[in-house]
Amino acid sequence: MKDTFVKLQKLQGIIAKKYEIEDKIKDVPKDLDVKKDLLDKTNKNYLDLCSRESALKVEIQQLENDKLAAEKNREDLEKSVETIVLSREYETVSKDIETAKNEEQKTRNALIAKQKNFEDLREKISIQEEIQKNQSSEVAEEGEKLEVIISQLQSELDSVTKEVNELSDGIPESMLFKFERIIRKKNNLGIVPIHGTVCEGCNMTLPLQFVNEVRKENDVHFCPYCSRVLFYEEVEGEEASFTFETKDVEDDAEPSENLKDFINDDEFSDF
Ligand SMILES: [Zn+2]
Repeated sequence: MKDTFVKLQKLQGIIAKKYEIEDKIKDVPKDLDVKKDLLDKTNKNYLDLCSRESALKVEIQQLENDKLAAEKNREDLEKSVETIVLSREYETVSKDIETAKNEEQKTRNALIAKQKNFEDLREKISIQEEIQKNQSSEVAEEGEKLEVIISQLQSELDSVTKEVNELSDGIPESMLFKFERIIRKKNNLGIVPIHGTVCEGCNMTLPLQFVNEVRKENDVHFCPYCSRVLFYEEVEGEEASFTFETKDVEDDAEPSENLKDFINDDEFSDF
C-alpha cells in the first residue's frame, strides 16, 4: 500500500500537469474565435454596404431617366412657343415652361445628391474591403500559429499521458479514475496527509478510529469531507497525542457500526 501512496503522490503532479495542458489546448482557439467573429462582422457590414450600393444604382438610373424626361418636356414646350400666335396661349405655355424648368432642376439636384451618396458609399466600401483583407490575413496567420502551438501542446500531452500510464501501472482503473476526478475538482490536490487527526486537505478533524484505519495502510481511504486520498504522516508533537488517544481504539477488535459506515468506500463513489 505504501507503494500505492508513493505512486499517487507522484501521479498527482503529473495528472495536474496533464489537465493544465488539456485546458491550454481548449483555450488556445479562443483568440482565433475573437478574430473570426470580427471578420464575420466585417463581412456582414461589407455585404450590407454592397446591397445599399445596388439599391442606390437603381435609384440613380431612375433619376437619370427622370432628368432626361424633364429635359425633353422642357425642350418640347420651348419648341411649341415658336408655333404660338395667341398671346393668352403664350402665357400659359410660358408658365408650363417655368414649371418644367423647376421640375428639371429638382431632378438634377436629386440626382447630384444621390451621386454624392454613391461616392460616399463607394469610399466606405473600399475602406471595408481593406479591413476585410487585413482581418482575413490575420485570421489565416493566427490559424497557422495556433496549429503549431496546438501540435506542440498535443505532443506535450502525449508524453505526459504516457507518464501517467506508466506510473499508474498496478493501480486499479476505478481508483485512478476517482483520483483523477478528485485532482480535477480539488485544485490539483488528490492525496493529502493526515497530521495528528486532521486532514491536511480540508483541515477537518477526523475520527480517531478512522485515522487509525488509514494509518494501518491496508486500504486506500478517502477523506469523508473533501474526498481526497489520505495517508498518515508522522509529525513531531502530533504523534504523542495520537498514540495516546488511539490506544483504546487499537485494543478494539471490531470497528463500531458507525466507523464501518464512515470508512465505506461506496459513500464517495461519486468521485
Ligand atoms: Zn479532507
